[in-house]
Amino acid sequence: MTETTPEGRARRWRAILAGRLRRSRWVLLAALAACLVLAVAGGVAPWVTAVAAAVVMVSAALPAPRLPASSAADGAGAEDGDLAALSAGQLAAAVPDPLVIFDRRGIVLHANAAASATFAVRPGLVLAMKFRAPEMQALIAEVLDEGTGTGVVDYVERVPLERFFRVTATPLGDGAGLFALLFKDQGEARRIDRMRADFIANASHELRTPLASIAGFIETLRGPARDDPAAREQFLSIMHDQTGRMARLIDDLLSLSRLEMKPLNPGGMPVDLAETVDAVIGSLSPLAADVGVEVVRRYPGGGVDVPGSRDELFQVFENLLENACKYGRGGGKVEVTIAVDRALGEAMVSFRDFGPGIAEEHIPRVTERFYRVDVETSRGQKGTGLGLAIVKHILTRHGGRLTIRSTPGEGAEFTAHLPLGSR
Ligand code: ADP
Repeated sequence: MTETTPEGRARRWRAILAGRLRRSRWVLLAALAACLVLAVAGGVAPWVTAVAAAVVMVSAALPAPRLPASSAADGAGAEDGDLAALSAGQLAAAVPDPLVIFDRRGIVLHANAAASATFAVRPGLVLAMKFRAPEMQALIAEVLDEGTGTGVVDYVERVPLERFFRVTATPLGDGAGLFALLFKDQGEARRIDRMRADFIANASHELRTPLASIAGFIETLRGPARDDPAAREQFLSIMHDQTGRMARLIDDLLSLSRLEMKPLNPGGMPVDLAETVDAVIGSLSPLAADVGVEVVRRYPGGGVDVPGSRDELFQVFENLLENACKYGRGGGKVEVTIAVDRALGEAMVSFRDFGPGIAEEHIPRVTERFYRVDVETSRGQKGTGLGLAIVKHILTRHGGRLTIRSTPGEGAEFTAHLPLGSR
């Protein structure tokens, strides 16, 4: 903070002078003692001693001489740390990615720990012998030939595991005859690319199937079934179902993409769980009646609120209750329970059905996008394969989680755990 008032400036100067005098206190004491000895024992005139003492005091209070310009360029004075004192090895050790320093003969002078661990590169090794892939040979040759500029290639290390790197070759210093290879791991970026490609392939496939069916029926209605009113009615009804399926899929895809655009914590107002679950039960009562399922509520006395978005939590409970009714219809009953665990600081909303349940090996995968235990059953139930992925996404955004318990043949229980927040 800069002092702007005269008193403030005076205070600051007093503090600076006191600091300089404190730092020079031993020199000062020695000089003043010498002046005293001269005055007493040496017979020097008192005014000469006083002037000498004043000169010593003033020089102690003067600022220390500045360091040469080069140290200022390092961003820190000698007191804060001397950059020039660091060795290339120490700097390379601070780089988390594999880094190799080599000379103009292409011989390794230094490899940091990451480079040694990943490629078993040691000082003395000829780089072109170690990295035999043509793109690496070209990269090394180019930087050695030209001695300037920065080359970049994508390189795949195949043994012991397939790993993808973006490699940069750069000359070090100004014509120092030293060069560096830096390897950036591309594994995570490639995994995300692959997920995106899989997702687009799955979504296109899901849309293409009903589209192909609609196109087929249009052809039939134009040709052989042109004058068959009964067939026309039947085909129009199937086409209607297929357009509904495409619309549901697009709705779910939009839901997912909107959720991904939102920040992690929705914040928001307290959401009354009992009121929200009641609204979901109300909106799904036609489906429950349709499939012959009775919904039983088990709520604790007193309301339970959690911080969050009511619309998103509505979507979570709607998906879970809809699945419980659709897949657990054979059990004839779904229990909806709201509970609170004060020790864990969370509220739990469970949907328990008494249907066929889910085999253990499928449980960890049912929240993956487009994963279904049985594709035909899911399609028959108007499923898109995205419901539980949306549920998991929303719960994660709320700082919560989904747990699934099931005994095949006895039903399944899906529980949304939500933090109670500070009260
Ligand atoms: P879908 O749109 O297919 O219902 P979800 O993501 O909601 O997609 O569910 C994924 C899969 O998990 C379903 O296809 C179904 O196989 C299984 N599943 C979900 N809920 C239940 C349940 N209550 N009982 C048995 N299986 C279920």
